[in-house]
Amino acid sequence: MVLLIKDEYPEKLFQENGKRLDGRDKKELRPIKMEVDILKNADGSAYIEWGNNKIFAAVFGPREVHPHHLSKPDKGILRVFYRMATYSVFDRKRPAPGRREKEISMIIADCLEPVLFLELYPGTAFEIFIEVIDADGGTRCASTTVASLALADAGIPMKSLVTALAVGKIDGELVVDLSGIEDKAGEGDLPIAITWFNDEISLLQFDGEMDLSELDTILKDAKEAAKKIYEIQVNTLKNKYISIQNNIEKEKGGED
Ligand code: UDP
Repeated sequence: MVLLIKDEYPEKLFQENGKRLDGRDKKELRPIKMEVDILKNADGSAYIEWGNNKIFAAVFGPREVHPHHLSKPDKGILRVFYRMATYSVFDRKRPAPGRREKEISMIIADCLEPVLFLELYPGTAFEIFIEVIDADGGTRCASTTVASLALADAGIPMKSLVTALAVGKIDGELVVDLSGIEDKAGEGDLPIAITWFNDEISLLQFDGEMDLSELDTILKDAKEAAKKIYEIQVNTLKNKYISIQNNIEKEKGGED
């Protein structure tokens, strides 16, 4: 575990052999595992382990809006509550939701809204609760990715899934999927989200320094990496339905 104090950042983010500190190549993702349908009280749920990040998402809706004054007569609303547990980072995080969590909640809602048919659900709310229980860089992207999966798990009509990841620049090199230490000690961090139904970017933030000429390359790399994450999302959903089908067939077999 690395204590993220600026003075203690490693001098180099690449090893002698050209690999990153965690052994990855420049375009290599951290290991990613996803599951759906894991919380019995939610309409839809999903869990992701992405490198050292561990995140749950629970979806509810369409349901009544509380407080009522937030409801809209002509469309449904999407509310996202991103929270980082106080034990999820090396330094104790204050338990009350801070400015960062409110901003990230808003960003995730903006990323996901384009794939929903909110106009079909006037006066109602869709709510997504995201709990980061272990954090190590890129939690807003991992949260967006797992929230999109939880929406699909809830059976909510969607135009497509959404996939997000952070790309950036460390020690002068463009890399995909920044780890926590790369996020803090690198030169640039660029979280992006892609809505697959129209192939558009629904989030693009930027923190740090990068040449404009590098932007095209890094966006291309981001899209290639996002496709790999998308495949994991799709396979995770498919596996759920394969397992339901297998159970039904087993039960039928038992009846014969
Ligand atoms: N982080 C932390 N304490 C905090 C907030 C963030 O240690 O209060 C760490 C955590 O590992 C997080 C990383 O810093 O993933 C980068 O945070 P950032 O705000 O850039 O958002 P993220 O990359 O998680 O979307």
